Amino acid sequence: MSEWDIAVERTINNNVPRVYKTLSQYPYIQDLAKELRKAKLEVLNNLQKYVEQTMESVKRIGGNAYYATNVYEAREIIAKIVGKNKIVVLGKSMVAYEMGLREYLKELGNEVWETDLGEFLIQLANEPPSHIIAPAIHMTRERVVKLLREKLGVEVSENATHEELVAIVRKFLREKFVRADVGITGANAIAADTGSIILVENEGNIRMSTVLPPVHIAVAGVEKIVPTFYHALLEATVQAAYAGLYPPTYINLTSGPSSTGDIEMKRVRPAHGPKEFHLVLLDNGRVKISQDEVLKEALLCIRCGRCHLHCPVYRVLGVNWGVPPFTGPMGAMWSYIVYGDTKPATLCTHSGNCKEVCPMGINIPRVLEKIKWIANDKERNKT
Ligand code: SF4
Repeated sequence: MSEWDIAVERTINNNVPRVYKTLSQYPYIQDLAKELRKAKLEVLNNLQKYVEQTMESVKRIGGNAYYATNVYEAREIIAKIVGKNKIVVLGKSMVAYEMGLREYLKELGNEVWETDLGEFLIQLANEPPSHIIAPAIHMTRERVVKLLREKLGVEVSENATHEELVAIVRKFLREKFVRADVGITGANAIAADTGSIILVENEGNIRMSTVLPPVHIAVAGVEKIVPTFYHALLEATVQAAYAGLYPPTYINLTSGPSSTGDIEMKRVRPAHGPKEFHLVLLDNGRVKISQDEVLKEALLCIRCGRCHLHCPVYRVLGVNWGVPPFTGPMGAMWSYIVYGDTKPATLCTHSGNCKEVCPMGINIPRVLEKIKWIANDKERNKT
């Protein structure tokens, strides 16, 4: 068996039964997923209106909001806020990866660290992520032992346990959190009515990245907007459950810079946490896709990663299916949305498992069929 076969089999055995158990233990989650789908469709059908409302809401609570039509604009906005020679801690964000943000900020002279454990490992290994919520699932424990020895220069025993490996990374990153000038995260959902962002996690790295540095920047695709604060909480709940991590250890909510009302109940900013909050909303192909009745379904994705583990093609091809960070069935859709690449869709064998397990009820095979049709049409027009 290859390293990939071993790693993915261990992951499936650890994760899939846990999701089924969660769904039977907390049956209300499936109803919440249906409610969330309706709310997200409402935003996609009125995207412009919700983008404007979100930006106004963020400004109203003391933050700054920006709209970027492509990754170049987004990187420029972020580079101006960050500056040079800063320490930047990154919370796992597919949009940051889509922008090539880590490398871009490093080229500008900043020290940049991924703080999600899996993302930190692939940063050390200089490899692309292989799964949307577990970017290093292609690495076995044995490989992580070697990687930490080589890249961090620390003593690690051949038989080090998972807990011991995590403790080594924890010690290394703790100092970075404390010294960081800027924390950059994604967002699981953004509430249009309040301008709040919500982030679900288990490690505590997001909590530290959003609270310890004086500046917090959140980057997110426009499809992350939901109508209300209530719907943002729904998305956090549903995403965690279908990712097999319910209840999540932390749900982080950020509404502008830190604040206090402790002197005469007058609410002032900042307090102990960040002095600045910036939200960068990214289009990069999403707005165009939202206008297509079939393809817009892909924008409902809440990045739970469930479709990956039920897909026979992903089990064979892994990171080689899709354009990183977009792998697996969702990645075959998103490789087209963001990069215009139709090839990943053409590798789909239409088993239909992805559609059966997707919490958003996305008809993934139908979306991929349409992308295949677009690819064929392009070929036809060449002749
Ligand atoms: S397409 Fe569905 S199952 Fe796959 S990651 Fe997105 S929400 Fe989850």
